[in-house]
Amino acid sequence: MENCCTGITALGSGSSGNAFVLHSKYANYLIDAGFSRKELCKRMDMCGIAPESIRGVIISHEHSDHVKGCRVFADEFDIPAYVACGIAGYLEKKNQLPRKVVEFIAGSTFELPGVQVKTFQVSHDALEPVGFNFLLSENRIAVATDLGCMEKSIVNELYNADILVLEANYDLKMLLESDRKNSLKHRIMGRSGHLDNRTTAESLIELLGPRTRSLLLAHISGECNDRDLLEKLMKEQLNKLHRNDIQMRLLQQDGPDVGCYA
Ligand SMILES: [Zn+2]
Ligand SMILES: [Zn+2]
Repeated sequence: MENCCTGITALGSGSSGNAFVLHSKYANYLIDAGFSRKELCKRMDMCGIAPESIRGVIISHEHSDHVKGCRVFADEFDIPAYVACGIAGYLEKKNQLPRKVVEFIAGSTFELPGVQVKTFQVSHDALEPVGFNFLLSENRIAVATDLGCMEKSIVNELYNADILVLEANYDLKMLLESDRKNSLKHRIMGRSGHLDNRTTAESLIELLGPRTRSLLLAHISGECNDRDLLEKLMKEQLNKLHRNDIQMRLLQQDGPDVGCYA
């Protein structure tokens, strides 16, 4: 198989499930598998992606909205899952570990056909959570969907990617006014929780570089965020930064997004 374009397709993103297809020149890969096998296949079909074209599942962390369909999908298509050492044992105990597993250490880099996968640690309430830099033939796609804070080390990893997939999880006021338990609010707002709209918007000052062309906003909360509000805030920020050239998309929970090609 040879893909004509390299890029990424979001099959869906949000607190009920996250999955992306990475298109390298020589193969497709699933990044996270937070939907059932059936739903993953259905969404791929909607995007014209054959499930048989997927050569591996690359997992960011063990939360169910990222691993739900990992074992069943990987085993059905007899492909490996790439998981951090710190979560392999956990997944095994939960009977969620596929037959074929390749373990990596957070912060390490490994090569797959058509792509170099550079992992980096993020602050999130999981065992060994990572973000990714995917180095394709001529471009780089950076993905960080679950992280509680934008540390300098993460800024360095995400800066100047051609395509940036970044979380904009919640609106602070909406989260505080929601009827969620205080403990949950604190968890989400904490350094190991999720990024709020404003933090994500402000971080763009440091993240967008001359190469950056696309911004995909991920993991948008259904209850504690407002897509119109988020879009307005981000557009204002891009305007302020004189970066109206950037193609911005708000990813959805309920369906796939059209492919974003570099
Ligand atoms: Zn998570
Ligand atoms: Zn998540």
